[in-house]
Amino acid sequence: MRVYNFSAGPSMLPLEVIEEAGKNIADYNGSGMSVMEMSHRSKWYDAINTEALDLVRELMNLPDDYHVIMVQGGASTQFEAIPLNLLKTGKADYIVTGNFAKKAYKEAQKYGDIRLVASSEDKKFTYIPKTAREDFRQDASYVHITENNTIFGLKYNTLPDTGDVPLVADLSSCIMSEVIDPKKYSLIYAGAQKNLAPAGVTLVIVKEDMLGGELPICPTMLKYRTQIDANSLYNTPPCWSIYMMMLNLRHLKKLGGVKVMEQINREKAKMLYDFIDESDFYNNFVEKESRSLMNVPFVSPSDELNAKFVKEAEQAGLVSLKGHKLVGGMRASIYNAMPVEGVKALIEFMKKFELENK
Ligand SMILES: *Cc1c(COP(=O)(O)O)cnc(C)c1O
Repeated sequence: MRVYNFSAGPSMLPLEVIEEAGKNIADYNGSGMSVMEMSHRSKWYDAINTEALDLVRELMNLPDDYHVIMVQGGASTQFEAIPLNLLKTGKADYIVTGNFAKKAYKEAQKYGDIRLVASSEDKKFTYIPKTAREDFRQDASYVHITENNTIFGLKYNTLPDTGDVPLVADLSSCIMSEVIDPKKYSLIYAGAQKNLAPAGVTLVIVKEDMLGGELPICPTMLKYRTQIDANSLYNTPPCWSIYMMMLNLRHLKKLGGVKVMEQINREKAKMLYDFIDESDFYNNFVEKESRSLMNVPFVSPSDELNAKFVKEAEQAGLVSLKGHKLVGGMRASIYNAMPVEGVKALIEFMKKFELENK
């Protein structure tokens, strides 16, 4: 039996996508081989690679001067790849709105003059700090933000105004969950295991004018130009993850693309937040205008009840609802693949649990 899986990552994939992969698992397109076995230089894999890259470009409506590459190492490796590739002026500004943002800020410090412009750590990352254009150094190579904070459940609803300083954003937990204007960003990166694919592949979308200023110590494998020139085939890619991403993006396109997905995601998030707000049993601590569409942390009146909730929810087929260890309580990650019915089932369970434990 399939459960409703609220894991923050790796997370649910659409059942249709998993079944499609299953149908072809031992013999892909008459090749007599699984995608897991074939050469990444084969004509079959080449078609998968090209279609995956083209679908990212199409679904995100990327202008021609943006490159798309697929790399390994997760979003965490990008915390270092970004300064190594982009620190042309030796300076960069960071905004810290959660744990991953803090890690990105920390790693970057090895490579140049990195400034913390704003942080919401004073209030346990429950809000997006306000910034003005003057707060950023106009000679900074870029400003780094984490668009959706996976652990604490908050997101940017309005991007910071950085003036002429390029914006770099970690979209690991919100990529393709809502329509964005790619022209507002100079670099977007995302580990695929939340909204796009199984773990193993990371997307980097970078504007041409950001390149050319790599630090001399930048490893060949982390240099964006290496994979851009090789069409993401410089070395052996995570073929299976990329294949699954391709199938998932085909599925997203068939549904109507990111615009349709955004409507569904807004509907799911609204249902859950409305229920939490109307209840005097459950609570969410994030300021309303910065609530995440993807990760919804909440608590019941006590730690004991939280533990009981997680356990009983699991028995009811609602799994991985335990909050991150930094936050406690519960967290429902409701990424693209979580159906509306899954959120409805969660709310029904929450009602029942409240009645039984009030
Ligand atoms: C999950 C996550 C990461 C870490 O991704 P890895 O691929 O595990 O390195 C980084 N940033 C955000 C916003 C995330 O949600």
